[in-house]
Amino acid sequence: MLEPTMSGSDCWWFELGGRQDTIGEDGNTALELRRLVLGVWDYIKNSGRFEADCYTLSWIGSIPGKRESRRMVTDYLLRGEDVLRGSNFEDGAFYGGWYLDVHPAGGMLDADAPNFVQTPVPVYPIPLRCLYNSQVENLLFAGRCIGTEREAFFSTRVMDTCALSGQAAAMLAAACAMWHTVPGQMTKAQVAQLRQQLLREDLFVPGLQADESANLAHEAKLTVTSVHDGRAGAPTGTMSLEEGGFVTFPGVDGTVLLSVTLHTPQTLCGTLYSAPLPNYLCPGKKIREYCWKLPAGHHKLPIQAQAGRFCTLVLEAAPDAELPLCQPLRTGFVCGKKEMPVCGEPMLEYETPESLYGAEQLVNGYIRPWGGANQWCAAPQDPEPCITMQWPQARELEQLRLYLDPELCAERPSSHAAQWQDSHKLTLYREMPAQLARDMIVEISLDGSSWEPVWEQKDNRKRLITVVLPKEQKVQALRIRFTRTWGPRPVGVFALHVV
Ligand SMILES: Cc1cc2nc3c(=O)[nH]c(=O)nc-3n(C[C@H](O)[C@H](O)[C@H](O)COP(=O)(O)OP(=O)(O)OC[C@H]3O[C@@H](n4cnc5c(N)ncnc54)[C@H](O)[C@@H]3O)c2cc1C
Repeated sequence: MLEPTMSGSDCWWFELGGRQDTIGEDGNTALELRRLVLGVWDYIKNSGRFEADCYTLSWIGSIPGKRESRRMVTDYLLRGEDVLRGSNFEDGAFYGGWYLDVHPAGGMLDADAPNFVQTPVPVYPIPLRCLYNSQVENLLFAGRCIGTEREAFFSTRVMDTCALSGQAAAMLAAACAMWHTVPGQMTKAQVAQLRQQLLREDLFVPGLQADESANLAHEAKLTVTSVHDGRAGAPTGTMSLEEGGFVTFPGVDGTVLLSVTLHTPQTLCGTLYSAPLPNYLCPGKKIREYCWKLPAGHHKLPIQAQAGRFCTLVLEAAPDAELPLCQPLRTGFVCGKKEMPVCGEPMLEYETPESLYGAEQLVNGYIRPWGGANQWCAAPQDPEPCITMQWPQARELEQLRLYLDPELCAERPSSHAAQWQDSHKLTLYREMPAQLARDMIVEISLDGSSWEPVWEQKDNRKRLITVVLPKEQKVQALRIRFTRTWGPRPVGVFALHVV
C-alpha cells in the first residue's frame, strides 16, 4: 500500500518485468511500467490521501531500466558464496562491495514478498575469468552482464562495480593485443603482470600487494618533514550509545584505550571483530567479547587489538552512555550508531601511536587501506609537508606516481544523497576531502642542493597523480612539496612510485 510517508527506497517495489523476457518483450514491459507509474500518480493526485493538489509530475523514464537481465556464461561464474566469503582468486582483478540486494522477481506483483533484502558483504575480488568465455576467444563482457550466478549478481550489478569491470576488461583487451594472445590463453605470468598493471592504474584488487621491484624510490634515501603522531585531535562533541554503536580503528599489537562517558553506573558490553578493511555492517572475524562494569564518569576502556587488521568494536545499547568524538585527523578511524550511522572519529589512544603513519608505508606495496591505514600522514602542525628522495648517484627518471587520500575509509554517497533516508548517511560529504592534497609542487635537484620546479598543480581533485619527469636530465634528488590541502587535515599519501 502506498502511504504518504513513503519515499526513496520505500517505493522500490514499483517494479515489473522480472519474470518476462527483458529483451524480446522489452516494449511491452515499458508500456506496463508506464501504466504502473501513471496509476501511482493518479492515486497520489486523486485518492485524497495525499496533499498533492499542487504537485506536478516532472519526469518519467522512457527506457525500462534493467536491474536484473541476462548474464553471460564465462570461464568462471562468481558465486554468492564467493561474495559472502570474499574468496581469493589468482586472477582477482577488481572488486565489489554492495550488499546481496535481493528484490522480488515479480516486483509489485509479489505483494507479499519483502520490498528488498540487503545482506552486507565484505569487499570481495572478482576474477578476470568473469569477463570472458574461452569458447569465443575475442569477446569480452563488462558491466551488468559479466559472468556471475544470480545470487552474486545481486551485488555485482551496481554501477560502481560495473564501471570497474569496464576498466579491467579494457586493460585485459589492451594486454592481449600487446601480447598477441587471447584472454583464455594468457599464461600465469601474464595474468600476474596484468594484475600489477591494474593496481598501478589504481584498480584496487583486494589483498594484492604491488610489486615494488621496479620502484626507484627504494634506491633513494626517503625522508619526510614530519609524521603524524597518531594521537587523537581536539574534542568536538559526543555520540550517544543509547541505541548501541560501533568504533573502527587500525589494529596494532597491544592495548588501545577507548574513551567513554557514563552518566550513571552501568555495564557496557561489546564484541570486537577484525577485518582487512573498515566495514561497519560486515565487521569480520570475531576476536573477543567485553563487558565492563563501570561507575559513572569518564573512562578509558582497554581493548586488546590485533595488528595487521582493522578492528571494529560493536557496542550494545547503553542508556546514559556516550562516546566522546574528536576532530577527524586520522585515516582509518570511524564510529557511528548502529542503525542510523553518524560519522565521527572516536577518541582512541594507542600505547605506541608513532607507528601508525610512518613514511615507510609510502613504499610498502599497498596503495590503499588494507589491514592498516598504509599511509604516510604529515603532522597537523607541519606548515608545508614535503617528501624528499635522494639517490646515491644522479639518475634518469621518467615518471612519478602519487596515490593520495580522498578519504578512502568512509562511505562516499552520490550527489542525490540529500534525498536519502538517514540510514544511508554514514559519511555525507558536501565538500572536498579535507586531507586530499590541493596544491603541490614537484621539484628536482641535479646537484643535490639547488631545486627547480618541474610540475605544479593547484586545486587538485584527483587521487592518482602522474607526473612525467624530464627524462634527459640526470636527477640527484626529487621532492614533493604539499602547500595546501582541501580542509583542516594534514596531507595523507598512500604510495609513491618512481620509474
Ligand atoms: C530501477 C533501477 C535502480 C537501480 N538502482 C541502482 C543504484 O541505486 N545504484 C547502482 O549502482 N545501481 C543501480 N541499478 C543498477 C545499475 O543501474 C545497472 O546495473 C547498470 O547501470 C548497468 O550498467 P551497464 O553499462 O552494464 O548497462 P546499461 O546501463 O544498461 O547500458 C547499456 C547501454 O547499451 C545500450 N545498448 C543496448 N543495445 C545496444 C545496441 N545494440 N547498440 C548500441 N547500444 C546499445 C543501451 O541503450 C544502454 O545505454 C539500478 C537499476 C535499475 C533498473
